[in-house]
Amino acid sequence: VAELELIRAVERALRARGGRVLAGPGDDAAVVRARPIAVTSIDTIVEGVHFELSTHAFSDVGHKALATALSDLAAMGVEPGEAYAALVLQPELETDRALELVGGMEQLAERTGVTIAGGDVVNGPVLTVSVTVTGWAEREEEIVRRDGARPDDLVGVSGPLGGSGAGLELLRGARVELPEAVWEALLARHRRPEPRLAAGQTLAAAGVSAMIDLSDGVAADASHLAERSGVELGIDLAAVPLAAGVAEVAAAVGADPLRFAATAGDDYELLFTVPPERAEAVEAAAGSAGSEAVWLGRAAAGGGATFRDAAGRAVALAGYEHA
Ligand SMILES: [Mg+2]
Repeated sequence: VAELELIRAVERALRARGGRVLAGPGDDAAVVRARPIAVTSIDTIVEGVHFELSTHAFSDVGHKALATALSDLAAMGVEPGEAYAALVLQPELETDRALELVGGMEQLAERTGVTIAGGDVVNGPVLTVSVTVTGWAEREEEIVRRDGARPDDLVGVSGPLGGSGAGLELLRGARVELPEAVWEALLARHRRPEPRLAAGQTLAAAGVSAMIDLSDGVAADASHLAERSGVELGIDLAAVPLAAGVAEVAAAVGADPLRFAATAGDDYELLFTVPPERAEAVEAAAGSAGSEAVWLGRAAAGGGATFRDAAGRAVALAGYEHA
């Protein structure tokens, strides 16, 4: 792409929101009116590793890059503020395609009240989008970390799992009979994951003790949370809620549906722990954000995540890793 021409066009496509950004794209640096606590995360997606252009529109790629970064802010329970995007684009890529990518990002930014306050565009060998996001809080106690789970806490998840993995299998050609709407929902789940920002904030306010977003699958991410908190998370696989169509797709690819849902990545639901006396408040909080609190198990003294099937037998699960 012609970098300067694209940068000018991108500047015209972006809008400031929330009144914090005093200077955005177009100056040498962004200038933001800060709140007391900044919460910052960075996420990078690479063509051929995290997405394929044969199955994703450029606008999907822009959406996905911002969504995965914002999902980390959701897991901290904070309000999102600004995003900064670095694009590596192939020299032969047309400006219009690059603008579609930025458009997908800006649409999600608008819906979530985020300002894309700066970035960089360079030519390079592989389409890569790296997004840094900053969220804001007034007090340190508002922020939920991975290390707060305690023995006896309940383990919950904010919504059904396996949808993104099932969508990926459909895009790869899995042969299965599904209602059109279910099929489309699975593809959308894979192409345009939704960061659970509202749920993250209401769950934090309702008193969850630890939280993580499900990027690698509950099998892997529950282990991360357990490790950081120094507890064991015991998860009942039969309690894992399946997105519509996941059971059918898993069967079509010869997988057990619950194992599939627990190990497929990219769902971006929130996994959290809650002291039992706050469970009801957390259910109400999740509902108020359009999510749910589905209880998967309990924390105990010990370490790591353990999984049991409906008969109570221990099940070994490997976390999802991007190929
Ligand atoms: Mg994360």
